[in-house]
Amino acid sequence: MSKFKRVLVANRGEIAIRVFRACNELGIRTVAIYSNEDKYSLFRTKADESYLIGEGKGPVDAYLNIEEIISLALKKGVDAIHPGYGFLSENPEFAKRCAEEGIEFIGPTWEMMDSLGDKIKSKIVARKVGVATIPGYEKDVKSVEEAALHAGEIGYPLMLKAAAGGGGRGMRIVWKESELQNAFTSAKNEARKAFGIDHIFMEKYLEKPKHIEVQVLGDKYGNIVHMFERDCSIQRRHQKVVEFTPAFSVPQETRDRIYEDALKLANAVKYRSAGTLEFLVDSTGRHYFIEMNPRIQVEHTVTEMVTGIDIVQAQILVAEGFALDSPEINIKSQSDVKLNGFSIQCRITTEDPSLNFAPDTGKIESYRTGSGFGIRLDGGNGFTGAEISPYYDSLLVKNISWSRNFQDAIRKSVRSITEMHITGVKTNVDFLINVLNHPIFLAGECHTGFIEENPDLIS
Ligand code: ADP
Repeated sequence: MSKFKRVLVANRGEIAIRVFRACNELGIRTVAIYSNEDKYSLFRTKADESYLIGEGKGPVDAYLNIEEIISLALKKGVDAIHPGYGFLSENPEFAKRCAEEGIEFIGPTWEMMDSLGDKIKSKIVARKVGVATIPGYEKDVKSVEEAALHAGEIGYPLMLKAAAGGGGRGMRIVWKESELQNAFTSAKNEARKAFGIDHIFMEKYLEKPKHIEVQVLGDKYGNIVHMFERDCSIQRRHQKVVEFTPAFSVPQETRDRIYEDALKLANAVKYRSAGTLEFLVDSTGRHYFIEMNPRIQVEHTVTEMVTGIDIVQAQILVAEGFALDSPEINIKSQSDVKLNGFSIQCRITTEDPSLNFAPDTGKIESYRTGSGFGIRLDGGNGFTGAEISPYYDSLLVKNISWSRNFQDAIRKSVRSITEMHITGVKTNVDFLINVLNHPIFLAGECHTGFIEENPDLIS
């Protein structure tokens, strides 16, 4: 019997549907919020109740209006709010307001978010507990002159990064001093626009690293486990496109050390709920912590496939006060988290690869997907007749495969994506198939520059 009766999801699209499904299975009534622009979106219909918010505020701001969401939640007698990813999910103020109003925020405490969600602060925590970070300058750089001063110490190439960053925004590679001025101004402007905070710090740019991240789960009593890693190196403009687990091309010893570091960091703040610690592994095999994401991630699905643990349900149960070793969650110790097989997630988006992946919009004229053994589809707004608007993320559906070996997981992904038939809007399906069929992908050897180095993937 669930302790929560009603949960509101302060989000939209595929992650809202994902959370509604988890609640539904736990016997919890679901409440959706939707903007005027989302009136006809699918996620709304998947909740037990849905309410229009942010009238006159605009499509994105509707989902960012803390007070309106809180007052709706109070009016509707909601016990808890799940923030999904993006929007308010990493906003400590939102989590704090929930706590003040007696609404459970399904995530870490606002204090944890405040200390780990910011990239500068989390690097400092990491250093304190002896976890390696990329050398750099971890203070808000206020001027180009200040940047130039520290650039000399760090050495080129370097990266300017927004402390509040996310989704690859507010980040610039600087190869030489003459590029610093432009990079600094544009990173700062982009950060201000995207996050409302324009703190920029600097770090050495690692060439051709792999992005390896560790999923962790903690309860309210200080118990924390890791759920192995994901390889998210296949990126475009620092944004993930294809993710898989396990990261079999990284030596097991390195992976073990990364789990250890992830747990060290999560334990340092007694982390609760689901979270992800991200690392870069350089070409010599050394790993560095880059950031913590105190929320559910888009690619959590592959971890669920290989561990059999429903991470969203676990988040809800932890928020209800269940301990990891309770019968409801049933993780008595780290050894209860077992890894079985291989899983790959492809993000199918309404983007046109031939136009530099510009988002496409319009009506979906026909929509057919390919499921079958070993395939999971976590959908967003894909159905025949759906209107794809320009206002939101272009993720249409996540195609997730599972198999006992990597090669077969690839075959399942390719088979399923080939079966898809979507007309009316452009998608990246052909591009994804080219990635999956690439010999470097098969070897698990892609680094973060793989897509840029292989323009022939766009056929
Ligand atoms: P975001 O929060 O925007 O996702 P991250 O800090 O997680 O930003 O970095 C996203 C990606 O950017 C990484 O996976 C990696 O590809 C690249 N990146 C970040 N920092 C560095 C660095 N110092 N050197 C090389 N690549 C980096």
